[in-house]
Amino acid sequence: MRRPVIAGNWKMFKTLAETSEFFDALLPVIANADHCDVVIAPTFTALHAAVAKTAGSRVMISAQNVHWEDQGAFTGEISAGMLLDAGCGAAIIGHSERRQFFGETDLSVSRKVPAVIGQGMNAIVCVGETLDEREAGSAEAIVKRQLSDGLAQLTGDHLSHIIIAYEPVWAIGTGRTATPEGAAEMHALIRGVISDLYGGSIADALRILYGGSVKPGNISDLMVQPDIDGALVGGASLEVTSFASIIHYGRS
Ligand code: PEP
Repeated sequence: MRRPVIAGNWKMFKTLAETSEFFDALLPVIANADHCDVVIAPTFTALHAAVAKTAGSRVMISAQNVHWEDQGAFTGEISAGMLLDAGCGAAIIGHSERRQFFGETDLSVSRKVPAVIGQGMNAIVCVGETLDEREAGSAEAIVKRQLSDGLAQLTGDHLSHIIIAYEPVWAIGTGRTATPEGAAEMHALIRGVISDLYGGSIADALRILYGGSVKPGNISDLMVQPDIDGALVGGASLEVTSFASIIHYGRS
């Protein structure tokens, strides 16, 4: 039985004051949400404050990016050890905005993932095709390549620290969501790729999140799909009411 994960990606939003206000309002309303893991990825500047605010709660704090080296002359970068030191339990790796705007590649993903796992943290590894790739009929091939190249340095033992987020790029921030059935098909394909690479029992245990315009109104239909184990939520994770409602999916 895979434990669901609802993760929020705040991207480049929220000051320290806004971070504090958010957790003051969120934590009481999700205190009884013991059916799922909750992760929030604030900006780097808000990580420490978010960790302090959520201490002793069910929320795990994640970074949105990481560098693969432990330390060094890499201006503007932050290592996995530094994230652990700041109290992070996870890092998002390979988000499509990093791929699109900041030159993230499958190769850089493949270096970052072991760095994060090596610190005992979880890696939330994002994959997903662009609209052009989908229209060209290559969505499945792209996702397969992102998985096999991005996870290239891992053995099966590492996979318990991996969460995959399938995020079709055309659905991120657009209000356009994959149909639950369409998303489920890609999730099944992802589980199949992992099964081929690492074996059936590791694939069965892997948690695969859907991301792309997840909202309170569509989360329940996504979560009933057999291979969808949670969501990576961008815009709707910035508001307490909508994120809490997503966390409480399927409950009245
Ligand atoms: C994301 O940032 O990973 C994301 C899925 O964004 P949104 O929910 O806003 O589409």
